Amino acid sequence: MYENDIASVLISEEEIKQRTTELAQSVAKRYPVGAPEGDLLLIGVLKGAIFFMTDFARALPIPTQMEFMAVSSYGSSTSSSGVVRILKDLDKDIAGRHVLIVEDIIDSGLTLSWLMRNLSQRNPASLEVVTLLRKPDAVKIDVDVADVGFDIPNEFVVGYGLDYDERYRDLPYIGTLHPKVYSS
Ligand code: 5GP
Ligand code: MG
Ligand code: MG
Repeated sequence: MYENDIASVLISEEEIKQRTTELAQSVAKRYPVGAPEGDLLLIGVLKGAIFFMTDFARALPIPTQMEFMAVSSYGSSTSSSGVVRILKDLDKDIAGRHVLIVEDIIDSGLTLSWLMRNLSQRNPASLEVVTLLRKPDAVKIDVDVADVGFDIPNEFVVGYGLDYDERYRDLPYIGTLHPKVYSS
């Protein structure tokens, strides 16, 4: 499909699947089923996190509910600036709920720190993060991310929800792009 654009496969479809199951099992242990706070509320950050969120939700052995937010961080198409704007807010109040932010990737961590601050002001019962991917720069932020699928090198990746100029989200694996794609 995009064979000529992909330089290498970093994480295969099978590896994503297996790691998602492991993450789901370890996350589920932290949440009581039938709690007065209600089902665990997954908050997906559009659009990149949808593929991971739907697979992760189905791998979780506990009931969950799902909400979505869309944010844009001003910057170029390959790096973020930390100035975040809400494009689509949550439809529901999250006060008193156990909330788990589901992220595709943490790079500078600026988007996530902003989101954590924003959501914690809405008084959830708990607020945690699960991310499929994390890059080295993320260590510089003070957000404690308990569950990380894969730590990856500082390279721009696409696939499994992640785009370059809105393309490649539909790739079933995580890969890197040929330099010619950026220059064309
Ligand atoms: P941060 O604020 O942590 O620097 O960046 C978060 C957002 O930047 C991600 O949700 C994603 O949209 C984008 N991003 C960061 N690194 C990559 C990458 O390697 N590939 C793609 N496609 N997007 C990335
Ligand atoms: Mg994201
Ligand atoms: Mg993007």
